[in-house]
Amino acid sequence: SEGLSGEVKPRVLLMGLRRSGKSSIQKVVFHKMSPNETLFLESTNKICREDVSSSSFVSFQIWDFPGQIDFFDPTFDYEMIFRGTGALIFVIDSQDDYVEALSRLHLTVTRAYKVNPDINFEVFIHKVDGLSDDHKIEKQGDIRKRASDDLADARLERIHLSFYLTSIYDHSIFEAFSKVVQKLIPQLPTLENLLNIFISNSGIEKAFLFDVVSKIYIATDSSPVDMQTYELCCDMIDVVIDISCIYGLTEEDAATGSPYDKDSMAIIRLNNTTVVYLKEVTKFLAMVCFLREESFERKVDVLSVFISIL
Ligand code: GDP
Repeated sequence: SEGLSGEVKPRVLLMGLRRSGKSSIQKVVFHKMSPNETLFLESTNKICREDVSSSSFVSFQIWDFPGQIDFFDPTFDYEMIFRGTGALIFVIDSQDDYVEALSRLHLTVTRAYKVNPDINFEVFIHKVDGLSDDHKIEKQGDIRKRASDDLADARLERIHLSFYLTSIYDHSIFEAFSKVVQKLIPQLPTLENLLNIFISNSGIEKAFLFDVVSKIYIATDSSPVDMQTYELCCDMIDVVIDISCIYGLTEEDAATGSPYDKDSMAIIRLNNTTVVYLKEVTKFLAMVCFLREESFERKVDVLSVFISIL
């Protein structure tokens, strides 16, 4: 577990125009705020809202683009920040006119690329909850085309942008964040391989490795992920953390603020003969597995062995 708990914290920068939804995304993904509460978030005037959270596997910072401020003024050391960044997420409000956002996107991406060509550029076409499916696809096509035309005009076609349709009102924001973070984990292929071997040799049907705080999954075996399974994992993590916070907090934990530790584990039997199993892997990570009731008794030992390999 050394490799996954130590120095490889993926660093993510969240940027976009004011009111595009950055604070809401942060609060919903990293602080368990319910989407409706974000309606009352206050707009701040700070350019950079730092939140390098020490409680999550992902470290994370937010940058605003308020109207008139020249973001690239020489007193602001953006070079240093871009150099340490793994992924730059640019949030575009799909319910608003996005001409200004696209020109900011272009400016940001080209500046950042000059400093650090290894950054992954991720565009969240956000607040799509108000749009029909057709409309979503259409919007994504339009934004993608305009952004790549801008890059082509600047002869920078080599810059690759990835696009995601997101909303804080469903799991799409977690799914998108998971994909962004997965790209930053060098051990991902190894982890996926291990998970594949693991499930093929046990009665387990599906296994995920989760960042507990953000409920981003950082790896899974190669069988497809369906939304319902993912949502079940999220519910399982919530239950474990909530129950631990209420009944499991020791004096030691109170100092660190987290009851999640190496003894954390839970088993929930669902009414359809499925068993969900959660086990701590590192300070930040948990394994969540799905298996049939009948394969359950035999397999728990295998799981412990697997986790000790990680
Ligand atoms: P920021 O200035 O970029 O940090 O933007 P905020 O997080 O303050 O969000 C601005 C507004 O957008 C708030 O009223 C949020 O409730 C709203 N918002 C954020 N995300 C979504 C979303 O996915 N869907 C919808 N419909 N509204 C959202």
